[in-house]
Amino acid sequence: MRTESNGSGRLTRRRVLKAGAAALGGGTAVLAAAPALDAQAAQAPAVLTGTQVGRTFRGLVRHGTALDVQQMRLLPIDPRQVVIRSTAVAPCYTIVRGALGTNPVRRAEVPNHCGFGVVEAVGAMVKRVQVGDRVVVAGTSQCGQCYQCLHGRPDYCQFTFFSNAAGVEPFPPFAQFPDGTPVYAQAGIGGMSEVMTAFEEYCVPVFTDVPAAQLTLLGDQLASGFAAGHADMHFQPGSDVVVFGAGPVGLGAVQAGRVMGAGQVIVIDPIRYRRDFARKLGATTTLDPVAEGDGIVERVRELCKGPNDRRFAGGVGYGRAGNAVMARGADFVVEAAGLQAFPPKVEPQPDPTNVKTVQQAWDCTRMGGHVMLMGFTLQPVSFPGTSLALLGRTIHPGQQGGLHVMRDIPRYVKLIEKGVIDASSVITKKYTLDESRQAVQDTADRTIITGVIEFS
Ligand SMILES: [Zn+2]
Ligand SMILES: [Zn+2]
Repeated sequence: MRTESNGSGRLTRRRVLKAGAAALGGGTAVLAAAPALDAQAAQAPAVLTGTQVGRTFRGLVRHGTALDVQQMRLLPIDPRQVVIRSTAVAPCYTIVRGALGTNPVRRAEVPNHCGFGVVEAVGAMVKRVQVGDRVVVAGTSQCGQCYQCLHGRPDYCQFTFFSNAAGVEPFPPFAQFPDGTPVYAQAGIGGMSEVMTAFEEYCVPVFTDVPAAQLTLLGDQLASGFAAGHADMHFQPGSDVVVFGAGPVGLGAVQAGRVMGAGQVIVIDPIRYRRDFARKLGATTTLDPVAEGDGIVERVRELCKGPNDRRFAGGVGYGRAGNAVMARGADFVVEAAGLQAFPPKVEPQPDPTNVKTVQQAWDCTRMGGHVMLMGFTLQPVSFPGTSLALLGRTIHPGQQGGLHVMRDIPRYVKLIEKGVIDASSVITKKYTLDESRQAVQDTADRTIITGVIEFS
């Protein structure tokens, strides 16, 4: 509350009384609203929840060695869970190894770790969302109460990154097949079924008319890539930005470069149609890492060297001392290539393990610059120790690009509404639920940028 004071800086008795009366007035308004709140509570979420148990629905399920659309029945939800009718989902490349692999899986599971839909029922303790809300179900939770959230790092919210006892499933099954086999949702979210039951910590209500197909990209790929440019690592106006990988995540970072006013955005991807896409979305230069070969780092340094090498006139000097590359390089580098899970149907990556790409990303960052590692690499990556210690490059973790889902997703919705973020052209193919396996296959084949499954 703002404190009133008279001209001499002292509170007058009359003003205190006036302020008190205003506060009472406010109190009366709250009391008057109480019956309405009661009426809301009388909608009895538990009763609504009860009507959902046993509800049958369909979804894409990985079970045994199969990945196909199955019928299932909803199980009771936790008091903090939300029943969501899915309207659109975009499979993430991260899931293709598990979804299409040839080894049998230990439990039946609906793939993916984000989605979008409409709330149809809420557990008795849910506060964040209400029945009827449109919600992004994000890949990371933001509980607001754990150590990480309280220390400003909800991108590492412990509701997502908890450790659980051996043999204990982190999330209960949310459905079962007609024969009683339990069905789980990947990461407690899934997304590729007609119904999701996410914990409220993952749900971000959005109040907008933007189509579901675009909003579902804010649960992961597009939002993570865009966050790379401002959520943790902050692209500066006029800066040199490099993005490795022009997939759904990398193109989000390219858009962040454009929106944050980067001086140049250099995009590196072996796939020709993706390089074309990158230029449409804001890339100023695109490079083919196959054509560039081992010279790719030097090429980037060349592009970032500036108009002169007069170091006392703000130019960027250049020199070498052992492994130390002085001065030249990009201000911000985003590695969003990731490992190649399956050989694609388009141009393959020069290094399917992604180890070399991570090293190149780090290497083409200038001294004191910033690099974010978003792509997965399953093998150890080594860096020259002296340079790692001395060159002052800050490595940022790529977990959702540092996205704080409750803070950032509503912001991105506004930017989509204003046409600042393009969430439409990156959707290059749409599917029905019956075609959802093909959506996962096309994602693995890299013949699409982002495929969206729309539920009828
Ligand atoms: Zn993902
Ligand atoms: Zn948390």
